Amino acid sequence: MGTVYAFSIVVGVLLIYIVWIKAKQKLGKDIWKTTASKNLPYKLKESILSKSETVFFKSFSEYYKKDHIIFTKVSLKDIFYIGPGTEGNYMKHFSRISQKHVDFLICSKDTCKPIFAIELDDISHNSKKVREKDEFKNNTFETAGLLLIRIKAKKEYTKKYLDEYFTTKKIKEKQAQLAAARNENTCPNCGAKMILQKAIEGLHGGNPFYRCLKYPDCDGVILLPIKA
Ligand SMILES: [Zn+2]
Repeated sequence: MGTVYAFSIVVGVLLIYIVWIKAKQKLGKDIWKTTASKNLPYKLKESILSKSETVFFKSFSEYYKKDHIIFTKVSLKDIFYIGPGTEGNYMKHFSRISQKHVDFLICSKDTCKPIFAIELDDISHNSKKVREKDEFKNNTFETAGLLLIRIKAKKEYTKKYLDEYFTTKKIKEKQAQLAAARNENTCPNCGAKMILQKAIEGLHGGNPFYRCLKYPDCDGVILLPIKA
C-alpha cells in the first residue's frame, strides 16, 4: 500500500511539473510576442546622416546633377566581394569589411554600378585609430579599383570648392590616376593604352608620367602623384 501511495505522489508531482513547464513555455512565447511587437528599444532617427554629412549632402546633391544616384552610408560588404584565392581566410576578409561603410556612393542610374565614393573627414580622422581604419579603407578601394574621394568636413561648400573635386574632368583624371596606380592605364582623353615616361624638363622635370600611345594625335597624359 505504501509503495502505491509513494508512486502516486511521484506521478502527481511529475504531472504538476509538466503542467508548470508548459505554462512557462507559453508565457515565454507570449512575452516574446509582446516584445517583438511593442517593447523593442529601437527609435527612429531624425536623419540617417550626421549634421556635417547633411551639410555636404545638400550642397553635393544640388551640385552634382548627373545621371547618377547618390547612396549614403553604404556598407563595404555591399560594394565589394571577396575574390577567389583567399582559401581559409574568407571570413577574416569578410569581417574586415562587414562593419565598415562609406559615407556616399555614386552609382550609375541604370545599373547601379559604382562610379566613385566620397568620405567626409572630420577632426576624428586625425586620431591614430581612425587613420588606420582610413588607410585600410583607402587600400580596399584602390585594390578593387573604385575611386574614393576624401573631403574635409566644412561648414559650407562653395561651387568653387566642389569644382576642385567633382567636375567630370577631375573625376576622369583621378580615375585614370587610380588605373595607373593599378597598372591599368588608359588615356583619359581617348581610352588608348598609355606608356610610362619621365618628364625631362618643365614643371614636372624628373617625374614619371603616362603618355597616350597615340601621341602626338592625342595629348592625353597622367601625372603620377609625387611620392615624398
Ligand atoms: Zn589618348
